[in-house]
Amino acid sequence: MNHLEDNKSIEKLTTIGVKAKTHKYCNINDIEHLYEILKSNSLPIKVLGGGSNILWTKDFNGLTLHINNKGISIEKETNSYVVVNVQAGENWHEFVIWSINNGYGGVENLALIPGNVGAAPIQNIGAYGVELKEVFIECSAIHLRSLKNKVFSAKDCQFGYRDSIFKNKEKNNYIITSIKLKLSKQGFHKLDLKYGDIKKLIDEGPVNPHKIANAVIKIRKSKLPDPKKLGNCGSFFKNPLINNSLFDNLVKKYPDIPNYPSGGKFKIPAAWLIEKLNYKGYRIGDAGVHKNQALILVNYGNSTGIEILNLSNKIKEDVFKVFKINLVAEVNVW
Ligand SMILES: Cc1cc2nc3c(=O)[nH]c(=O)nc-3n(C[C@H](O)[C@H](O)[C@H](O)COP(=O)(O)OP(=O)(O)OC[C@H]3O[C@@H](n4cnc5c(N)ncnc54)[C@H](O)[C@@H]3O)c2cc1C
Repeated sequence: MNHLEDNKSIEKLTTIGVKAKTHKYCNINDIEHLYEILKSNSLPIKVLGGGSNILWTKDFNGLTLHINNKGISIEKETNSYVVVNVQAGENWHEFVIWSINNGYGGVENLALIPGNVGAAPIQNIGAYGVELKEVFIECSAIHLRSLKNKVFSAKDCQFGYRDSIFKNKEKNNYIITSIKLKLSKQGFHKLDLKYGDIKKLIDEGPVNPHKIANAVIKIRKSKLPDPKKLGNCGSFFKNPLINNSLFDNLVKKYPDIPNYPSGGKFKIPAAWLIEKLNYKGYRIGDAGVHKNQALILVNYGNSTGIEILNLSNKIKEDVFKVFKINLVAEVNVW
């Protein structure tokens, strides 16, 4: 039994909530079922997790595979760490809570990032000074055409800032079915003091993963729009890295430009650039820029994917005109 659904609306399957349809859809709860579907399929495929990093701009004339296989197991345990194997369909935040409740440190800074575990390596999720790659050991993935299983080590994944091999050379080639992470039994992973808000929210006494996660959750809830109330897919653009000469020119014009030296270049907050052009709170029809977070594009209810995309292109063009900086989308535009 293949359980394929026809002409399925994806509106409720993505956090930005735009309307589009997929010709065929299949909810995948186990890997055997996935192989069965892949063997008999000849349509183009899209792989869907929690739908929190996708902007769907048109109907898809193919098969959408919704990866929902569950399970968390401990593969190895020593006095100081555990190796955990997590199936791709587990919800990321629920996995973070599981880790903390079991006393394991490593992913606490990544609490409340929406989406599923299988998508976490795709853009090497990161928040509050920590990226997935710091705890990542490997992932298992199925090649969409050969159906062969391949294990990708951290090195194979070629992780970068919101980037991996799965957004480049191997884009749309694999379905990640599980990941393995190394978590500490000796406390939290990192408290990056650059993020003053976290420190302020951690009360007296020793710091532990629980306290960091609670602080992160509190900050995120106060700053980021809840997709259940206002459709969005998180930061729409990556923070650009610019070279020295462009940076020198910009500092002359904008002495207050925030910047973070990174590998011989300068990382500039994309939100600052967008805000400087007065886009914060901008709205055209039902597509808009969030009133408090200039990096987040929102759907006030009936925006289409194309309208959100047009708005993002307008912002990109204006940022380039004024700052000569090319913004790159973090969101996957389909
Ligand atoms: C409010 C909000 C806040 C956010 N904050 C952050 C943040 O702090 N840091 C951060 O890094 N991201 C953040 N994001 C972005 C998003 O949560 C992450 O990118 C997340 O990992 C996406 O997971 P998902 O399951 O929803 O993926 P989806 O949106 O379903 O898919 C994203 C991409 O991954 C691919 N994919 C999904 N699952 C698989 C799989 N099993 N195998 C192969 N490919 C797959 C899809 O094809 C697509 O290309 C935020 C998003 C929102 C809405």
